[in-house]
Amino acid sequence: MSNTVGKTNLLGLTQLQMEQFFESIGEKRFRAGQVMKWIHHFGVDDFDAMSNLGKALREKLKACAEIRGPEVVSEDISADGTRKWVIRVASGSCVETVYIPQDKRGTLCVSSQAGCALDCSFCSTGKQGFNSNLTAAEVIGQVWVANKSFGTVPAKIDRAITNVVMMGMGEPLLNFDNVVAAMQIMMDDLGYGISKRKVTLSTSGVVPMIEELAKHVDVSLALSLHAPNDALRNELVPINRKYPLAVLLEACQRYISRLGEKRVLTIEYTLLKDVNDQPEHAQQMIALLKDIPCKINLIPFNPFPHSGYERPSNNGIRRFQDLLHHAGFNVTVRTTRGDDIDAACGQLVGQVLDRTRRSERYIAVRQLGSESDTVAGARQN
Ligand code: SAH
Ligand code: SF4
Repeated sequence: MSNTVGKTNLLGLTQLQMEQFFESIGEKRFRAGQVMKWIHHFGVDDFDAMSNLGKALREKLKACAEIRGPEVVSEDISADGTRKWVIRVASGSCVETVYIPQDKRGTLCVSSQAGCALDCSFCSTGKQGFNSNLTAAEVIGQVWVANKSFGTVPAKIDRAITNVVMMGMGEPLLNFDNVVAAMQIMMDDLGYGISKRKVTLSTSGVVPMIEELAKHVDVSLALSLHAPNDALRNELVPINRKYPLAVLLEACQRYISRLGEKRVLTIEYTLLKDVNDQPEHAQQMIALLKDIPCKINLIPFNPFPHSGYERPSNNGIRRFQDLLHHAGFNVTVRTTRGDDIDAACGQLVGQVLDRTRRSERYIAVRQLGSESDTVAGARQN
């Protein structure tokens, strides 16, 4: 989503930035609200459609600004109503955005980076390496594109998106400023007016940025735990070697307690057969989380080629859930949606132009047939 030379893309500006922009071109700050509503409520990208702006202002805006949405490469709709967009970002890579309708809710799963540098062993995004951070316009642009797909522009769009989860490709806390700006627009009434409880940032555990997040926004937090002890987590989620469980859980607990009453941490736990799904793992988890206000979301592993992992059986999943449930935890199992369009968690592959060359290394390792060693290593713990 490259900017036309010299023009400011208004799509990614927060209310404050938009006011500063209007001031910088010698206009009144209140214009910010008018233009934000056109962009985010009505999905408009043409200044001439902004009927409450005078012709002179519209011409001035056309000369120095633009509203440039992301390039949509494809849009698929699954048999169960799940929608998936493939979006090309400025770096040339593609990322994916998924919309999941459920009863009265509509959840949009948004990407923050093209690829991911953190290399969790069971994640297909991680296996592709890292290419680039998305700009704020590219992050909020995913909400803009999805929202537009539910209404006729420029008629006001219905509230199809009630929740946003930063659980697409990438680690959102490693693209901090752009993700925070985009989340501010999601929550702003001039943007999408989504409640702070319904915007969720998911992290694999970048501890210093969890501290930083609390200074800027009060969105809900999800932690990708995946292992109840450091030895196993070091294998599955390598950033654990830098920020082990004790410091990580302390940071999450501090973040949650600042949010005030009735806010809980979401614990995401991808179940990998014979790796982290045994009764002893559930027992360790119970001990680890006993003092943390949390709800647990179990994600049955979504396979991708050559991952080296398997999804546990339904009985295995239920057994794990029951153990946690009997210990008093609120536990849900994430149902797989959009399977037929490869839109499930961890199946978002996009097309990442890998700068870290991890994907090449991954393929090379696979060819040596040693990927099973990695899994066996993880299993020892
Ligand atoms: N980087 C962030 C957010 C994106 S991943 C994070 O790690 O939290 C969203 C969730 O999907 C994470 O909990 C992630 O661990 C999980 N996930 C990744 N690959 C998966 C797979 N193959 N099957 C099931 N869940 C997966
Ligand atoms: Fe990155 Fe999250 Fe995948 Fe880990 S699980 S590699 S942090 S996207």
